[in-house]
Amino acid sequence: MPSVGPVKRNDEGDSIVCAGPTIGANSLQPKFVGGAGMIRNDLHVHSVQSMCGMHTVLEIVEIAARKEMRLVNISDHGRASGKDMRFGVIANKLRWPEKVKSSTGKVITVLAGIETNILDINGNSDFPQSNLNRFDLVSAGFHHSNGGASDNTKALENYLAQSPLDILTHPCKASHPLLIEEIVELSLSHGFALEVNNTNLRVGKTDHEQLEKMIALASERGAILVENSDGHTFIEIGENEEVEMFLEHRNIDGDVLFINRDDLRLEKFLAQRKQKRTPLPS
Ligand SMILES: [Zn+2]
Ligand SMILES: [Zn+2]
Repeated sequence: MPSVGPVKRNDEGDSIVCAGPTIGANSLQPKFVGGAGMIRNDLHVHSVQSMCGMHTVLEIVEIAARKEMRLVNISDHGRASGKDMRFGVIANKLRWPEKVKSSTGKVITVLAGIETNILDINGNSDFPQSNLNRFDLVSAGFHHSNGGASDNTKALENYLAQSPLDILTHPCKASHPLLIEEIVELSLSHGFALEVNNTNLRVGKTDHEQLEKMIALASERGAILVENSDGHTFIEIGENEEVEMFLEHRNIDGDVLFINRDDLRLEKFLAQRKQKRTPLPS
């Protein structure tokens, strides 16, 4: 059973040292080797606060460090996924710092995100408006509604009229179709990123034809694309082998395609999106 050692502040500002061994090294090694080929900046990771996530945030820091990643965005589900959720602590930089040091000494950037649920055609969601200005990234996706492509696209449009969006998660999930041309245009007009999701490819949830279409159209029109793991477990977090395989078969260069493979492009995107949600001083 993994154990998390005592946590203390170190002498370097706001980093947290997670003292002592946390997760046995061997448990992270066998199949998926860290380093080259990982998602360096993984913008879609679930913690144990989501009922489907398996790890605490400190365990995620350890996993990210051992896989030689740089950044994880903790994007737990909204409350419609079955649990009363709390985002106030992780989204408060006075209580949860952005830079966290792992037991190996590697510093991991931990962003405070959410994967909110778009719930109906009117665009209602479980986005907690009270934390609007505190999230580093707001992601949204379809998990519970059962509309067709046209209804789901309308739902997204209506969501955008009332709530923020920085990343549309798994837009090519077969169970929740969307109109690809429309979502690429919405991405362009609202500035949110479209996600290519490794775990959904792994577990067979992705409509490959739709994904191919989305990547082609987004590239042609200049819409923003990100690759994320949607990791719920240590064998999923930071992994992108299915995305790579998908691109290789089509001769597409992921380094050009995804803004989160480039730290500077990502930082610019993060700053722009956060500024958009910050009210101007009165
Ligand atoms: Zn999701
Ligand atoms: Zn997710």
